[in-house]
Amino acid sequence: MVKQHRRLQVKLSESLKPLIPSKDLIFGRHFTDHMLTIEWNSKDGWSDPIIQPFGKISLEPSAMVFHYSFECFEGLKAYKDKNGKLRLFRPDMNMKRLNRSAARLTLPVSIIWDVIGGFSEDELLECLKKLIRLEERWVPAERGFSLYIRPTLIGTQASLGIGPNSRALLFIICSPAGPYYKTGFSAVKLLSTFENVRAWPGGTGDAKIGGNYSPCVRPQIEAAEKGYQQNLWLFGPDDEITEVGTMNCFVLLDNEYGETELVTPPLDGTILAGVTRDSILQLARTWNEFKVSERKITMSEVVNALKQGRLREMFGSGTACIVTPIKIINYRGEDLAVPLDPNDPSSNAGPVTRRISDTLMGIQYGEIPHEWSVVL
Ligand code: PMP
Repeated sequence: MVKQHRRLQVKLSESLKPLIPSKDLIFGRHFTDHMLTIEWNSKDGWSDPIIQPFGKISLEPSAMVFHYSFECFEGLKAYKDKNGKLRLFRPDMNMKRLNRSAARLTLPVSIIWDVIGGFSEDELLECLKKLIRLEERWVPAERGFSLYIRPTLIGTQASLGIGPNSRALLFIICSPAGPYYKTGFSAVKLLSTFENVRAWPGGTGDAKIGGNYSPCVRPQIEAAEKGYQQNLWLFGPDDEITEVGTMNCFVLLDNEYGETELVTPPLDGTILAGVTRDSILQLARTWNEFKVSERKITMSEVVNALKQGRLREMFGSGTACIVTPIKIINYRGEDLAVPLDPNDPSSNAGPVTRRISDTLMGIQYGEIPHEWSVVL
């Protein structure tokens, strides 16, 4: 197999941009000096990867990405530990998910890469690592700060005829990011949403494709206008909980059998397989202190648990925030107060939510040794 990353070309930027002071960082607004691009066409396969100055890309107005949303992406972060070493968190999971999303859109995937040029998830990861090493000065050193990495794959064939793309472009851009919570956790208020559905059986909710995100902005604005930060996406006649905004959802409750149980909806095709979700499930299972379940959970189960004093904590999970505590859910017109910390009414996150956040952050910043943290 050809080692694509060894053919990586580097064209350095002639002038480097000034770094953005930490206090001025706005998520996703500032980008580093370079980007990685790799072109693909169905005849020649993948071109050599190129790291080049960050800049505009030029496409035909008829490129399929503009008309039919041939686009999938990933989101992961690079962290700088207290010894100045760069670290990624489970990046192999993001590479795999990118491949799965690409496959859903008939964009080139590793199976094809192997046939026509030997580009695999491992090879892409090696290229990504080279880019991050080159952009080292952009990875902030403060705890909670990171460099957000956005691998993206688009279909670039110039054609209005709908079908598989004969041309594609893979690029990776990086943006320095501040901490999600500047001063402790801030618990969110959710508006349960059923008029608009984020994902449905047989749909694409389990793929990280741009087309899943744009339709969610209007419901998000409607929630914000009513004073709620995020949508709680419900599905089906019995109001199953699916996701929170762009996060996976967890419920900690004492179930009807008297067991403490951490529940998250199963990967049934309507849920994105979050890297954070998987990490929380694995951690909680190793703690072995409460039952951990991937199962359907409905709003009536949550409401009953709340009314009977059995609901303990709820939170969303994702790369951006690790965990976001939930304090209010507006469900069919009624504001339900989700407990935060029963032992500390002034707290803005429950003890399990806090422990998960501390553990994952400790691993990401290399303070807790763990194979999930990959040193560059
Ligand atoms: N669900 C959706 C819809 C997402 O976009 C994301 C990523 N922001 C997540 C869940 C969380 O995934 P991860 O833990 O891999 O960031």
